[in-house]
Amino acid sequence: MFDPGERLATVFGFTEFRPGQAEIIDTILAGDDTLAILPTGAGKSLCFQIPALCRSGLTLVISPLIALMRDQVASLTAAGVGAGSLTSGNTEAENGAVFERLNAGEIQLLYMAPERLAGSGTVALLRRLNVTHIAVDEAHCVSQWGHDFRPDYLRIGELRRALGVSLSAFTATADEETRAEIMARLFSETEPKTFLHGFDRPNIRLAFQPKNNPRKQILDFAAARRGQSGIVYCGTRAKTETLAKALAEERHTTCSYHGGMEREDRRNVEERFQREDGLIVVATVAFGMGVDKPDIRWVAHADLPKSIEAYYQEIGRGGRDGAAADTLTLYGADDIRLRRSQIDEGMAPDDRKFADHGRLNALLGLADALGCRRQLLLGYFGEESEPCGNCDLCEEPPELFDATDAARKALSAVLRTGEYFGTGHLVDVLLGNETDKVTQRGHHNLPTFGVGTELDKNGWQSVFRQMMGQDFLRPDSSRFGALRMTERARPVLKGEEGVTFRRDVMKRSARRPAVRMMVSEDDAPLLSALKAQRRALAEAARVPAYVVFTDKTLIELAEKRPQNLDEMMGISGIGATKLDKFGSIFLKVITGAGEKPHPARQKLAGQTSGLVFDRLQAAQVMLMNGETGTEKPMSCSSQVLARLAKQNPTDLDGIERVLGERHCLRFGPAFLEILLNQ
Ligand code: ADP
Ligand code: ZN
Repeated sequence: MFDPGERLATVFGFTEFRPGQAEIIDTILAGDDTLAILPTGAGKSLCFQIPALCRSGLTLVISPLIALMRDQVASLTAAGVGAGSLTSGNTEAENGAVFERLNAGEIQLLYMAPERLAGSGTVALLRRLNVTHIAVDEAHCVSQWGHDFRPDYLRIGELRRALGVSLSAFTATADEETRAEIMARLFSETEPKTFLHGFDRPNIRLAFQPKNNPRKQILDFAAARRGQSGIVYCGTRAKTETLAKALAEERHTTCSYHGGMEREDRRNVEERFQREDGLIVVATVAFGMGVDKPDIRWVAHADLPKSIEAYYQEIGRGGRDGAAADTLTLYGADDIRLRRSQIDEGMAPDDRKFADHGRLNALLGLADALGCRRQLLLGYFGEESEPCGNCDLCEEPPELFDATDAARKALSAVLRTGEYFGTGHLVDVLLGNETDKVTQRGHHNLPTFGVGTELDKNGWQSVFRQMMGQDFLRPDSSRFGALRMTERARPVLKGEEGVTFRRDVMKRSARRPAVRMMVSEDDAPLLSALKAQRRALAEAARVPAYVVFTDKTLIELAEKRPQNLDEMMGISGIGATKLDKFGSIFLKVITGAGEKPHPARQKLAGQTSGLVFDRLQAAQVMLMNGETGTEKPMSCSSQVLARLAKQNPTDLDGIERVLGERHCLRFGPAFLEILLNQ
């Protein structure tokens, strides 16, 4: 029997277990039943893969999505592990090959779709194969009340009894109801050892912004992360399409995704996203379980999610590989109104609605937080922590002000107008604007009329939004969203409690936001070159880029610059097999790049033209095989790129003079875009 730590290092190239992994692996190896609830990105797969590699016999893995199974098998194969899958997506020949390898004892991990369990021969087959353990991925699929219910998961309990082996179940869904169902259906006769692990994902940066020209906010965010894979979540189907179009107009590779699309089209987007490096998917929350990409570098919410749990799950899709991932969530008073009315108008019983308002309140509290967002988020899930240093509020603490007086004035305006109006009208009353509506209703005669001139319109809108966020005011859907005071606001109105709010800082953003690089300026050119190499290898093998190496591995390669295979072995994510297969290829890229960036690039260090150089180079990498990715490879030398960055031509003719005609045909338009938009 192998040692788990040794397998982790040799096969996967990782030096340390992540929290929880070692204990779970030991439990499985001891032959005990295991239920592991770990957040997305915690590294669940390794928990059943490593035990399979430590002992003899076959581990059967039940997993709900064929595409994801295929990618996991590809990843394992790349790492030198004997893995195979039996699914309805296989051809006869593929199945034949798997059976052959099974009979020859060459497979340690067999992935199977749950549908397969219904087949008559399956149990007999598995009996014959010396299965020693069953691992159930996405175990919440046994829950009849969840979104992801898969009836065939109900057969797993029976299978396990037939085989008489231990079972481990994995999920990121932690709520009590789901857990109880997993227990009942998968572990009816025995109580499994249960592991529930931390919620923190420290590599995910947290940030919120009040909406202020939201379309531009999203476009800027994406522009600063050009070429990095990302998801934009939208509140409506229509918006996914318009935003995707806007992003495409700015030359991002992008597609939209929502539940109203044909199944086939959705499958297509999922597959492209999984495989391509740098695709942006603009989606509703329907884009979820089919996503298992470890190198998603950013997640933006163009609209406020529905609850703090939903928020956590959606941003959690970023940065599973452990490298930095960025998030941005936009929110405004309209979002609050929409989310409240969705709850109020839903079919759920009253106590459920009450709980849903609570979950929304928690998210709004996070949006308008006064201190570290992660501390608040983790606190909600019951974990204590220190300020994180990786959220917008740690980086730039908000300006706070005593809003007690303002809040009281706002409440008084609400009450004196009979709780029949929305923010716009109430702000007019407070500011003393004699609009038609104000005079028609006689609101210019109210004592509150014009008492709020210490703030401007934006200031009041921010106060109203934060009052809604603190649940002092609630839009009433039976009154077309008019604001009504809640019981929570009473102590404020009576002067028994004070209120502290944030001042919204609406920064005038630069015409073009600064580029957020994944590594320092010195290492950026090498990282682009490594990415290009990865892409070429992945395309040749028809696997997703991360199957070759994840971003985290490439970043480490660019930063540490190992000079020989021994040094390379010390990089996270490079095990023995990958070292064998890819080591010398990437070593060549690193040594080719030299100790320092190319002299032509170095001369531009610290200048904007240096950044332009890198963007040109990145664009070139993306276009190396043409727009379609199928043309003959072509590239420009560093000198040529540096000349272009310095000369800064503003039309295609100017670019052609530097590149020559043939190269200009391929790269000209993309380069021009960069040069015109620095
Ligand atoms: P989950 O299923 O929990 O969302 P995965 O099993 O897909 O997570 O793992 C996410 C990523 O983390 C994968 O790229 C995996 O290779 C990586 N990973 C897992 N365990 C470790 C570890 N101990 N050290 C470094 N990376 C790890
Ligand atoms: Zn923080």
